[in-house]
Amino acid sequence: MSGFIDLHTHTTASDGSMTPEELVRHAKNRGLSAVAITDHDTVGGIAAGLAEGEAAGIEVIAGVEISVAFKPEMHMLGYFSQAAYTNIKDTLDTLRKNREERNPKIIKKLNGLGFDISLEEVKKEALGDVVGRPHIAKVMVGKGYADSLEEVFDKYLASGRPAYFKKDKLTPREGIEEILKAGGVPVLAHPIFLGLDSVGLDHLLYELKDAGLKGMEVHYVENTEEDTRLLLELAQGHELLITGGSDFHGGFKENIEIGAGRGNLKIPYVLLEELKRLMRQA
Ligand code: AMP
Ligand code: ZN
Ligand code: FE
Ligand code: FE
Repeated sequence: MSGFIDLHTHTTASDGSMTPEELVRHAKNRGLSAVAITDHDTVGGIAAGLAEGEAAGIEVIAGVEISVAFKPEMHMLGYFSQAAYTNIKDTLDTLRKNREERNPKIIKKLNGLGFDISLEEVKKEALGDVVGRPHIAKVMVGKGYADSLEEVFDKYLASGRPAYFKKDKLTPREGIEEILKAGGVPVLAHPIFLGLDSVGLDHLLYELKDAGLKGMEVHYVENTEEDTRLLLELAQGHELLITGGSDFHGGFKENIEIGAGRGNLKIPYVLLEELKRLMRQA
C-alpha cells in the first residue's frame, strides 16, 4: 500500500459532524488510503466505519481518544486490531459516566451567565453516545450568543474560562495501561497541547515510555514546522512510533480537512505499516 492517511478523526459517535459511513467515504473521496476513527471515549462508530471501509475500498483502523489527568491537557490515542477494539468498552463506559456528570455543571454555569440553554438542546446536537463541549458550543452559536464555535471556547468553555469544568480522569499511566490491557497501542496525542518545552517533554516521555507508551502523534494539524521537527527528534530519541492526524471533526471544528488539516499535512502510509506491526504484537 502507498499514498496518504489520517490517524486522528472524529465522527457523530462523539463530537464530529459526519457519521462513520460519511467520514469513511469522505476520506476515500479525498484520496486517502487509510483512515483511523478515534472518537472521544467511545468505539461506538467503529463497526459501521469498518463495514463502510470494506464497501468503499479504503482501510479503516479502529481507535479511540481518551483525556487523561494532566494540566493543561493530555489526550491518549489507542489503536486496535479489529479483534481487540471491543475490549476497551468497559473502561470507556466509565469515562462516559464522568462526562455525564460534567455537562449539567457547564450548562448551569452558562445559565448563571445569562444564557438560555438546556441540556436537552445540547443532547439533540449529539447523535452518538458522547456529549461534549462542541455540542454545547453549537447550541450557543445557533442562539446567536457567539459567531463561531471557537469564540464560545475562547470566551466560556476552554480551560480557565468561566464555564470550564474538568472531568474525572484516569492518570496518564492508567490510560496507557487500560489501552495495553485491551490489546491496543497507546500513542500520545498532539503533544503541543501539553504546555511543555522540549526539556519538559523529554522528561515526560521517559515516564510515559516507562508506563508503556508506544508512539507519539508527531504530525498534527496545529503544529508549526518547528514543532514537528522537534517532535520527530524526540520520537526517534525515545524510540517511539510516529503517527499523524488532522483531528478532523467536520463542521464541529472549523476549517480542518481530513488528511490535509489546514493544508499542512501529508501523512505517508508507511507510518501505518509500523503501527500495524505493533497492533499485531499487542
Ligand atoms: P470535551 O470532550 O467535551 O472535553 O471537548 C473536547 C473537544 O472540544 C475537542 O476534541 C475539540 O473538538 C473541542 N475543543 C477543545 N478546545 C477547543 C477550542 N479552543 N476551540 C474549538 N474546539 C475546541
Ligand atoms: Zn473532539
Ligand atoms: Fe484531542
Ligand atoms: Fe481529537
